Amino acid sequence: MKFYPEKCSIKDQRMKPFIDPDEIWGHLNEEKPSKERVREVIAKSLSKERLTLAETAVLINADDPELIEEILQGARMLKDKVYGNRIVLFAPLYVGNKCSNNCKYCGFRSSNKDAVRKTLDKQELIAEVEALEDNGQKRLILVYGEHREYDAQYIADTVRTVYSVKKGNGEIRRVNINAAPLEIEDFRIVKDSGIGTYQVFQETYHPEVYKDYHLGGKKADYEYRLTSLDRAQEAGIDDVGIGALFGLYDWRFEVMGLVRHTNHFEACYNVGPHTISFPRIQDASMLSFGDKYIVSDKDFVRLVAILRLAVPYTGMILTARENQYVRREVMKFGVSQIDGGTKLELGSYHESQNEQQNLNREQFMINDNRSLAEIIDELLEDGYMPSFCTACYRLGRTGEHFMEFSVPGFIKRYCSPNAMLTLAEYIMDYATPETAKKGWEVIEKNIQDLKEFKRIDEVRNRIERIRQGERDLYF
Ligand code: SAM
Ligand code: SF4
Repeated sequence: MKFYPEKCSIKDQRMKPFIDPDEIWGHLNEEKPSKERVREVIAKSLSKERLTLAETAVLINADDPELIEEILQGARMLKDKVYGNRIVLFAPLYVGNKCSNNCKYCGFRSSNKDAVRKTLDKQELIAEVEALEDNGQKRLILVYGEHREYDAQYIADTVRTVYSVKKGNGEIRRVNINAAPLEIEDFRIVKDSGIGTYQVFQETYHPEVYKDYHLGGKKADYEYRLTSLDRAQEAGIDDVGIGALFGLYDWRFEVMGLVRHTNHFEACYNVGPHTISFPRIQDASMLSFGDKYIVSDKDFVRLVAILRLAVPYTGMILTARENQYVRREVMKFGVSQIDGGTKLELGSYHESQNEQQNLNREQFMINDNRSLAEIIDELLEDGYMPSFCTACYRLGRTGEHFMEFSVPGFIKRYCSPNAMLTLAEYIMDYATPETAKKGWEVIEKNIQDLKEFKRIDEVRNRIERIRQGERDLYF
């Protein structure tokens, strides 16, 4: 599959802003599309092409219930046909909540004097990672406030510390980052520590609205943030994660912004984003704005389905901000990664409940407080295959979501077997007997589904080697 960057009213240039609100509203204000047009657009996506801004607007403007249902079904089909039943698991690890910015929606904002500020020291960081490894985690995203203490060297040092922690069979094999935008040379320093994805969310793509929510600090500079992942790409980080915080402005505009951002990367770097995140605003200490743009559950499902169809080759992340029922529902429409066993209070993976009481160290409230074990059990019940795979990144196969999508047989050759191998490790090292039973059944069923895959015996052989005690086998 080739990229065909669409013509934009602002020409795409590296490290130059690319959002034109009039262009986006122009598309959104088009007349309601006909049924035929909506079906044509869904069919285009199902034939594995990403959608243009105009086509994305067609899906957004299709608000009659019958067409919404067809969009949801389209997204579900795309997910089932292209990606199958794997769900990758990870956990966020908050490293420090000092922050010099003043984002109206965030409990870490500098004006929140009630927040207890904390940065994990090295021993605390190690203790957190050990606790996460004890639960079976293999993939983390490290999260930082924006503060001069958390510079590139500091981020790189914490990444190296995390990779160095090995407890029992536990180890962290992929560390992603969600931190402040950096300069190119600083992104290079972070890249050298061996990170996976670097995430920066634009929060809202609307430049004027953005000003209202970002009252101080460097984050108040819309354009610096908008171009941050261009700088990451210039520094050689080609796995970048974009996102919008839904609830700040009209969800339809933000979906268009995410698609426009994707097109910009394609035009400038010939690679789309590695992942798209779509957090919905949650209650936080000192949250101080109205609910005009709060996204209902119904619209949330709809926007996830539209994103799936609009950018069919990108990983989609759904976090524990959402409750378990919403997560279960939304997952059907194209989500590829979720977090499990999430705790947002700094230090809370290793501290006991007593030590944590009322410390006010969390950024916002989460709604899915279940342990990783509970989440894996539910995924298995629902027929998903939980995966901790990190193979592509470690073998230098960056852009794996794109390969999964576009290279025939890639999932059967790599993703499914690797999901099984990592699930087998989890079962051997961390699962209860009941979960283990369900896990082996799911593995067996999925091996059967590999049918024509030539190396099926090798998959069985490696699973047996894991049963005998070997670890970290992958294709
Ligand atoms: N400080 C860095 C930044 O702002 O990009 C990185 C960490 S910030 C803690 C990570 C993300 O959390 C933000 O980009 C924002 O989208 C999200 N967030 C902040 N406040 C939130 C809230 N009240 N509810 C849900 N998500 C929130
Ligand atoms: Fe700081 Fe990030 Fe929270 Fe803004 S969202 S106040 S930058 S931690």
